[in-house]
Amino acid sequence: MNCTRLQQVLDAHIDGELDRATTGEITAHLTECASCAALREQRSALRQALRAHAPYFKAPAALAPTIQRSLDRAMAESAAKLQSSATGRNAGLSWLHATALASVAALAGLIAGYWLAQPLPDYPLRDPAVASHVAALAPTRQLIQVASSDRHTVKPWFQGKIDFAPPVKDLAGDGYVLIGGRLDQVADKPAAAVVYQVRKHVINLFVWRATDKAPNSPAADPTANSNTDVTAAIATASVRGFSVTTWAAGGLRFAAVSDVDGRDLTRFAQLVSAP
Ligand SMILES: [Zn+2]
Repeated sequence: MNCTRLQQVLDAHIDGELDRATTGEITAHLTECASCAALREQRSALRQALRAHAPYFKAPAALAPTIQRSLDRAMAESAAKLQSSATGRNAGLSWLHATALASVAALAGLIAGYWLAQPLPDYPLRDPAVASHVAALAPTRQLIQVASSDRHTVKPWFQGKIDFAPPVKDLAGDGYVLIGGRLDQVADKPAAAVVYQVRKHVINLFVWRATDKAPNSPAADPTANSNTDVTAAIATASVRGFSVTTWAAGGLRFAAVSDVDGRDLTRFAQLVSAP
């Protein structure tokens, strides 16, 4: 564990997201590196200050249906007034009409704010995927349990070990070289990790079931069949210095993690998800 590496995973360490082996290496480095230890103290102090002083509001569960009801009511009233105004029965309604429209706009803004405040669906998956990537790269861990560049060796290896078949593609022609696979976890869910290399950088492609539903359940992922445009669902973000690309397809969730540039990882995801 060197300083650069430690700084990349320091937040994950402070949040307790790393496995025991990686935590051990970090602890060892912190005892002998004054500058990293000082950085850890700063981050911990910031974390505590945020927890103690930053305002934290959790929207009550009843808020969304309440807003929806208000919006429905306001829209119904607005529609009624529009109709009344259009038939000319009451010319004095135009200001009421404007008020109704304004209240609809205000409520729509409220709802937009409410939904914008919700984390994006992929957001909660990124941190655990990065934590699993970091943990897998620890020297004491086994990055690869089946070492092969042949997808006809790697894909069958998962059979019987995990209750779905992760896609394993030969992308060597595009510079992404398959080097093997292993069993792993993402946020406590059993995951297949298909491992690639691009210019010596490791890419972990994590694949896991979209939900906890029973295997082969037709309702395993309600979004899986409705979204045929997989490419549109690909999202790349940067988390603690790592690139993370997530998408969903066929009842499975995918997260590719690497320290390569985000564009390289997006390209990788496009190749993996291409039909
Ligand atoms: Zn250091």
